[in-house]
Amino acid sequence: MKVTSSEIVISAVKPEQYPQGDLPEIALAGRSNVGKSSFINKLLNRKNLARISSKPGKTQTLNFYIINEVLHFVDVPGYGYAKVSKTERAAWGKMIEQYMINREQLKAVVLIVDLRHSPSNDDVMMYNFLKHYGIPVIIIATKADKIPKGKWEKHLKVVRDTLDMDKSDHLILFSSETGLGKDKAWAAISLLTKH
Ligand code: GDP
Repeated sequence: MKVTSSEIVISAVKPEQYPQGDLPEIALAGRSNVGKSSFINKLLNRKNLARISSKPGKTQTLNFYIINEVLHFVDVPGYGYAKVSKTERAAWGKMIEQYMINREQLKAVVLIVDLRHSPSNDDVMMYNFLKHYGIPVIIIATKADKIPKGKWEKHLKVVRDTLDMDKSDHLILFSSETGLGKDKAWAAISLLTKH
């Protein structure tokens, strides 16, 4: 998709604040520091749009962005940050469940993992959660520029095996540094949202 406009609509903490209307939504999830903001910014050709409140320690909100007036990206706060309290973790879980299980506009979740490491237990839990509720998932293996090309396939296999991925799920090699995988990511999103 050729992005001509993107802006934040709202940072929501509860369902009453989610945007109304029936625009399709793509949610983006991943552990803290995985490269989620960089992924969003790369796809939207923006430098700093997705940074507003996604950093650890800030209020945990779902950030809705509108793209070309036809699609919402929903930036989900990163998980797995060690210093987050149990209470905050529980609040995070509740907010995610409330959003992902009930939101009709949600067409797919982009789950971002780090190509360099095998997916964390939290990544596996998130993947299984999405599968359990039948929510389509696009796996992005980012930071590919940090791994020599000759080792990409080996690392992708670790991602596939650790998540025990369905063969039909999209797995896309990505780099926010080089733009690798950007077109494929948009193609997968378009397929799942029909845009
Ligand atoms: P977030 O916490 O998941 O939103 O992660 P950020 O997008 O803020 O990225 C965390 C760190 O990883 C930053 O220092 C980024 O510059 C770096 N980073 C993100 N994506 C890539 C990538 O594809 N390649 C490289 N080399 N660094 C990346």
